[in-house]
Amino acid sequence: MNVLPENATTVIIGAGIHGLSTAFHLARLRGSGDGIIVVDKTNVGAGASGIACGVIRNNYFQPAMRELMAHSVGVWESDPEAFSYHPVGYMQISHEGMRDDVRSIYEQQKAIGYESVFIEGADESKLYMEGIFHDWRAQGITSVLHEKKGGYANNQKSLQGLLAKVEDAGVSVTGGVEVTEFSTDASGAVTAVLTDQGTIACDQVVVAVGPWVQKFWAMLDLPVTTAVKGSDGKLHDTNTWTYWALQEGVLGVDPGYLVDNHGNMPPVIHIDTDAPLHDDDGQLVTEGPWGIYYKPDFSFGGVQGGYMPYIVDKPALEVAVDPYGPESPDFVVGGDFYRTWTSALSHCQKRFEGKSGLIKHEPSGGIGSFTPDSFPVFDTFAENAYFICDSNHGYKMIGVGALVAKELDGQTQGLLEPFRYRRYAEGNLHPVSNSPYPWS
Ligand SMILES: Cc1cc2nc3c(=O)[nH]c(=O)nc-3n(C[C@H](O)[C@H](O)[C@H](O)COP(=O)(O)OP(=O)(O)OC[C@H]3O[C@@H](n4cnc5c(N)ncnc54)[C@H](O)[C@@H]3O)c2cc1C
Repeated sequence: MNVLPENATTVIIGAGIHGLSTAFHLARLRGSGDGIIVVDKTNVGAGASGIACGVIRNNYFQPAMRELMAHSVGVWESDPEAFSYHPVGYMQISHEGMRDDVRSIYEQQKAIGYESVFIEGADESKLYMEGIFHDWRAQGITSVLHEKKGGYANNQKSLQGLLAKVEDAGVSVTGGVEVTEFSTDASGAVTAVLTDQGTIACDQVVVAVGPWVQKFWAMLDLPVTTAVKGSDGKLHDTNTWTYWALQEGVLGVDPGYLVDNHGNMPPVIHIDTDAPLHDDDGQLVTEGPWGIYYKPDFSFGGVQGGYMPYIVDKPALEVAVDPYGPESPDFVVGGDFYRTWTSALSHCQKRFEGKSGLIKHEPSGGIGSFTPDSFPVFDTFAENAYFICDSNHGYKMIGVGALVAKELDGQTQGLLEPFRYRRYAEGNLHPVSNSPYPWS
């Protein structure tokens, strides 16, 4: 284990996608990693980045999100091998209630030069999908957005690739160091990071701790509730942090089972439909609308994907103790997830009929910390503490670290401006889509 220094210019807390990306780009910007350190209470990839499904897409109804994602896709494309990136594309397949939203996404993708195809109409959508999968049979679909860029990356492999770049740039990354507190001066600025392995005096700190953000928020006495200006022009107190459980799983078939009509690996599939969902025995699972996503993935060893998340009804504080602690899997993939997700796979493609018994019963899924409007907050608090709170959008956002690095060195980034905390009080919120997911 690296010995902790007593002083650092920049202490980055958290060795997930954001902490590592920030470290790498900051070292590049400064010409050296001297004075930059990354600490993690466990190790690289111990948090959400290490278990993420790894889907990389541009499909967002919010213009600011789309532009940010287009920037991040560029970073993924810069070194696909190191990042274990599979540029297979991504498909948003939707019911009528979402058609206008998705058309507007397509039009704005055209405007920013992000390559995609948009198909409209029930028959046209069916034909397009059958051109990819001969056994496509999903109901209630009236539009298909096919993003030609994006796809997915393998979570742990991409983090190891990023770690190698961070270490080559001369940044030290130390696991087994838990940050417990901050020292601040009279103006409130952080002067030192206190850990269970010693104290590090520093000039600036980056908090990139994923689902554990609430603990760090409390360390700096930041507000438990946030006043959000609504469309009525009034301020409404809203919980600053809400926990959602992300439900994911793996069907234990050979990943090659999901090749397309030409024997190639297909795009990532995301479908939202309002058709009733039945299981293979004809029993109603849900009236809908419902949504799932899936992809063949050799890293997960099967067809991997997920269903709609749900708000964790445990007291937030209890979860915040350690959202990825031993208790988590039980309530993450609880209830009816396995039946719902496998029934939905079968609803979409005949090849999954009768395959629900192949679902792997191992811990999967995880917890995400969501902001008041479920979009990221990238901002400085207490004068020199930069928080990267991605509101669980973030594995795909590998480029955010590159932008944050510039802001740490005083260059404000236009792509990050729509994600400041003050937007809540000002009422400058991102538009809300008709997707059943909190992050689309
Ligand atoms: C099941 C699931 C699937 C997902 N799928 C996708 C997807 O397909 N595509 C996508 O874009 N996003 C996805 N996400 C969201 C994405 O994973 C997260 O938004 C992103 O990984 C967060 O990255 P991070 O670097 O902020 O945090 P993390 O990766 O969680 O890293 C935080 C690190 O901080 C460390 N830490 C915490 N507390 C302390 C402390 N006190 N001291 C020191 N270190 C500490 C942890 O050990 C951890 O390693 C998914 C999330 C989940 C849960």
